[in-house]
Formats: sequence, structure tokens, C-alpha cells
Amino acid sequence: AGTTQLLLSRIRDVPDYPEPGVMFKDITPLLADPEAFAALTEALADLAVRHGATKIVGLEARGFILGAPVALRAGLGFIPVRKAGKLPGATLSQSYDLEYGSAEIEVHAEDLAADDRVLVVDDVLATGGTAEASLRLIRRAGAQVAGVAVLMELGFLGGRGKLETALEGAPLEAL
Ligand code: 5GP
Repeated sequence: AGTTQLLLSRIRDVPDYPEPGVMFKDITPLLADPEAFAALTEALADLAVRHGATKIVGLEARGFILGAPVALRAGLGFIPVRKAGKLPGATLSQSYDLEYGSAEIEVHAEDLAADDRVLVVDDVLATGGTAEASLRLIRRAGAQVAGVAVLMELGFLGGRGKLETALEGAPLEAL
């Protein structure tokens, strides 16, 4: 409970960003506080161990900031899932729908093995579109899904429901 309070106290609400009517959850105050950043890293690393993960996938860009220390802390490898066109090697691509238009993310499939159990880490689960696409990439790469772990879930956007099929029973953990 103390950790939850600490983490919540370091998240800043920014109104009308990136567009009017949206209340953006800004985690930069949390990153700037070493005690809160360490507590978040520890909590996510505990989840990785508890769910038997062998790899951490971080979603660009804030999932990189959180996922890398989590991977080190848990003694696991880190794999970036990036926006299209950023990875130099052979990639698998997955596109997904946005409110207006679509987006595409990619992974270096050769860094995932069939016996890998992957935990997807990101800061915020909103509509769930990004996380769902990342789960598809992991499965298409032939690896297994250990779960999805985020700092925050914006429940009113229904991301949990959107992820249900792609999770195939794996957990969605929101701190
Ligand atoms: P989704 O695909 O679930 O709609 O959007 C999730 C992605 O957008 C995540 O990578 C997350 O970082 C970003 N995102 C959406 N809303 C917010 C927000 O309010 N705060 C932060 N920090 N990220 C957000």
C-alpha cells in the first residue's frame, strides 16, 4: 500500500495533452524520484519472476525506460518492440488500428526463442491496441506470453477486455 501511494503521488495529470479533452498521465516526476523509480522497478521485476518470465519486451518509448532496469533487476534479457522502420535487422511487423488511422510496431524475431516466456512491460495501458499488437508479435515469433505488466491501467478505455483474447489466459498486471 505504501508503494502504491508513493507511485501514485509521483504521477502528474496533464490536461488537454496531446489533444483537447485528454488527461495525460505523465510519469516523468516518478522517473525523476530515485526512490519511486526503484520501487516501480522492483515491483515489476517481482512480477516478472513470479510469472516465470525469461525475457522482458519493452514497448517504445516509455516501456524502454521501465523495461530495461526491470530486465536487469530480474536477471532477464531485454527486447525492444519499436515503431516501424527503427530496427536494423530482419523484423516481424504488426499493424493495429488507432482512433484515426493505424500504427505499426516491429521486433527482431531472432532474439526470441521457442522456449522464451515473455513479459510485456509498459507505463500505461490505454485502449490496449499497442499491447495487443505486441502479444501477436511475440506469438508470431514463436515464443510464449508470460503476461503484460504496466504501471497504470486506464480502466475506462477498456484495454483489459481488448487484451483478453490475445492473452490466452496469461495475466494482465497493473500496479
Ligand atoms: P494504447 O495502445 O493502450 O491505447 O496506448 C498505450 C500507449 O500509449 C502506451 O505505449 C503508453 O505509453 C501511451 N499512452 C497512452 N495514454 C497515455 C497516458 O495518459 N500517459 C502515458 N504516460 N502514456 C500513455
